[in-house]
Amino acid sequence: MLICRAEVEGAIRDVRLDGTRIAAIGERIEPQAGETLIDAGGGALFPGLHDHHIHLLALAAALESVACGPPAVADRAALGAALRRAPGAFPRGVGYHESVAGPLDRAALDALVPDRPIRIQHRSGALWMLNSRGVDRLGLDRGADAPGVERDAAGRATGRLFRLDGWLRERLAPGAAPDLAAVGRLLARAGVTGVTDATADTGADALALLEAGVASGALPLRLAIMGSAVLPAPAHPDVARAQVKIVLDEGALPSFDALAAAIADARARGRGVAIHCVGRAELVLAARALAEAGASGHDRLEHAAVAPPDVVGLVAESGAAVVTQPHFLSERGDDYLRDVETCDLPWLYRGRAWLEAGVRLAGGSDAPFGAPDPWRAIRAAVERRTRAGATLAEAERLAPEEALALFLAPLDDPGGAPRRVTVGALADLCLLDRPWRRAREDLTSAWVRATWRAGRQVHET
Ligand SMILES: [Zn+2]
Repeated sequence: MLICRAEVEGAIRDVRLDGTRIAAIGERIEPQAGETLIDAGGGALFPGLHDHHIHLLALAAALESVACGPPAVADRAALGAALRRAPGAFPRGVGYHESVAGPLDRAALDALVPDRPIRIQHRSGALWMLNSRGVDRLGLDRGADAPGVERDAAGRATGRLFRLDGWLRERLAPGAAPDLAAVGRLLARAGVTGVTDATADTGADALALLEAGVASGALPLRLAIMGSAVLPAPAHPDVARAQVKIVLDEGALPSFDALAAAIADARARGRGVAIHCVGRAELVLAARALAEAGASGHDRLEHAAVAPPDVVGLVAESGAAVVTQPHFLSERGDDYLRDVETCDLPWLYRGRAWLEAGVRLAGGSDAPFGAPDPWRAIRAAVERRTRAGATLAEAERLAPEEALALFLAPLDDPGGAPRRVTVGALADLCLLDRPWRRAREDLTSAWVRATWRAGRQVHET
């Protein structure tokens, strides 16, 4: 295949793909007999985007679920209506936030939907809320139990399940294969050719589903998978095992020694760690523990949502990369302005400060908890605007090129040097329908015209 007149690093070039790789780049390349030609018309050609933090199975499930949070659902009445309309025998709601109808338990949900089982996921991904019919379906009043099933003083399930995503999936639909092809199409449309799945409880079953998705072409992606310390090594050549995911919860932080031991255990297995830290306390603990362990070059801090200046310094000392979600500023920024302490507002999802401190910075959608389209994160890193139009910490803005680079690093080096369109490189490519000087003024996936994964075209408008 010959891509003619593409903009490659600022110059108009012809680019030949041969098999899985870029075979030639030149000002003018003569087409060979029978070669497929694409006239890029001066559109920018980039390496395919890498989403450094996503949850593929949860995203597949979310695509088949009902939205239960802002902006689609803003209050109790709208929530009730959405749930009653929901299709299926045990409908699933996603994206719930307390701003809709406060904290939910089985009693609150019974008041909305008494007559059929329902389950709603909190937008943090950490909590499922079920009504009594849902509790009954899981047998939680009849002996079924797991750590994370909340119970009241009398031992009765409250309908609130913490960090039991995988457990719930296995109990409700053991062996069921979610529609990964829908996820694959969605990502290809945005120019994404590689992702890191950051799910903590990925086990052998989930790994098998994801590998099968890559093998069948349903997921046209290079894939890195975090999971726990005991995740088996993937067999497919396009699937790699990434860091051990460690989730820190502000309410139940481990001791410094326990975290240090978990880091040492991962290192002994030849793996880095990816520590989920949203709040300031988690970030400080994680950065200190990593600094103590000594930089490995393979550790990451996920989210690092609140980072005052002294904490930025700690993170820089730790040597860990930060994987950020700037689009939360646009999706949730108005909530932050209401709920986050004023003194912390300047330190939310920082951009400029991380780069200035020399911290390797990468981007991830955190889909389905954030929008799966990385161009929203790229735009938000530049604009830092909420839905209502407020700006959050303007000083943290990135240039469009810096924001795009958050999604161009290799999966195994988030925040490292961006991949490039060069001869010999893997033909994972994203072609825009316009030159970069125009795309950078209005950053959106709407300009993605075609996507190639290992030389195979996986999206075309
Ligand atoms: Zn996540």
